[in-house]
Amino acid sequence: MTKKFEAVIAGGGLIGGAIALELALAGVRVAIFEQGEPGCEASWAGAGILSPAPENPATIPLVPLGKASMALYPDFIARVEEISGQDVGFRAKGALEALFSRDTARELSTHVALHHGLGLRAEAISAEDARELEPALSPEVEAAVLRPDEASVDNRALTQAVLEAARKSGAEIVPHREAQGVWREKERCAGLLLKDEKISAKWTIIAAGAFSASIAGVGTYAPVRPAKGQMISLRSEGVKIERVLWSDKIYLVPRNDGRILAGATVEYVGFDKKVTAGALQKMLNGAIELAPDLADARVEETWAGLRPDSPDHLPILGPAHIDGLLLATGHFRSGILLTPITARLIREWVTEQRVSVDWDRFTPLRFAEASKETTA
Ligand SMILES: Cc1cc2nc3c(=O)[nH]c(=O)nc-3n(C[C@H](O)[C@H](O)[C@H](O)COP(=O)(O)OP(=O)(O)OC[C@H]3O[C@@H](n4cnc5c(N)ncnc54)[C@H](O)[C@@H]3O)c2cc1C
Repeated sequence: MTKKFEAVIAGGGLIGGAIALELALAGVRVAIFEQGEPGCEASWAGAGILSPAPENPATIPLVPLGKASMALYPDFIARVEEISGQDVGFRAKGALEALFSRDTARELSTHVALHHGLGLRAEAISAEDARELEPALSPEVEAAVLRPDEASVDNRALTQAVLEAARKSGAEIVPHREAQGVWREKERCAGLLLKDEKISAKWTIIAAGAFSASIAGVGTYAPVRPAKGQMISLRSEGVKIERVLWSDKIYLVPRNDGRILAGATVEYVGFDKKVTAGALQKMLNGAIELAPDLADARVEETWAGLRPDSPDHLPILGPAHIDGLLLATGHFRSGILLTPITARLIREWVTEQRVSVDWDRFTPLRFAEASKETTA
């Protein structure tokens, strides 16, 4: 039997869920096929930091897309909360990066200049001012950078709310149905191939996170691999943190319910989600160095998840060579930040075949062409 939709999505994480919501709200008949329970992979495991600042020079090309997504966030949250009736723990309270180095003055001006050059607000502040804003900070901190426009969100709550909002808006979400391949008919993609069923659709969208490359016909466009991240959740009566706090070893993310998340490792160890003693030790040392009173905190939970990383660490967004196939994966460390813009651009392409923000830098063809060159 063949089921028919206008658009079909492989993967029910935050990216797939948000695309389904946008499409459903635009009147498109859309379905998600999810191999497990929706929203239980990277989108569940993340920290929920919303920061368009580049972590290293390789991610500078992502800044304009990150800024565009950040600008959409307040409206996106309002719509998701309204439709789903669920709170998603959005905290627009900024971030503070603590510097311990003796060479602080030089580091500070480089840091601030880099941000200003990219059109991001950042302000150098003294250690005293930093501790006034965040009394939990260590007395060893020598200076800090305040990034007032950054935010965070409870990504677990957001993912569930987005999926619920998509369902309420008319999207069909089918759990425990793995997409095994894209259904190709000559130069056209006709839908998805499940184990014993074909799903016919004008548009097929791959949003299968770190697993995208295992869908037959997708690997040349999305050669993603898993980048494991381990995290810890702490709770302490004595430690109050308002903003996202960073050092060069760790970040701490406060949640509205009092939890403080600490993370995260970046490991290339395949599809392994084991939590390891060595990683916990490193992360706890980093957390206690940054906010010493966390030494008394209760460890509530530890976990690991798999970020979808691409060969150049940038997302893979847009149309493939074959008509009707779209990719929305490879979001690596910024998928929660990039959710609203990803959903918007895919919806624009489906309904208008044009996009309002240039996405050429992220084309899936960049890997398909490279693999043709290396096999020629
Ligand atoms: C520890 C950690 C910390 C992070 N912190 C942040 C952060 O602070 N800020 C930020 O912006 N990002 C962060 N990220 C990254 C972010 O979580 C991801 O980029 C984002 O969640 C990717 O969303 P996704 O929907 O593409 O992937 P996923 O959430 O992994 O969803 C993909 C879905 O596809 C399903 N699937 C896979 N294969 C198939 C198939 N063949 N058929 C059907 N379904 C399939 C999977 O089961 C899964 O549900 C973090 C990630 C980790 C692991």
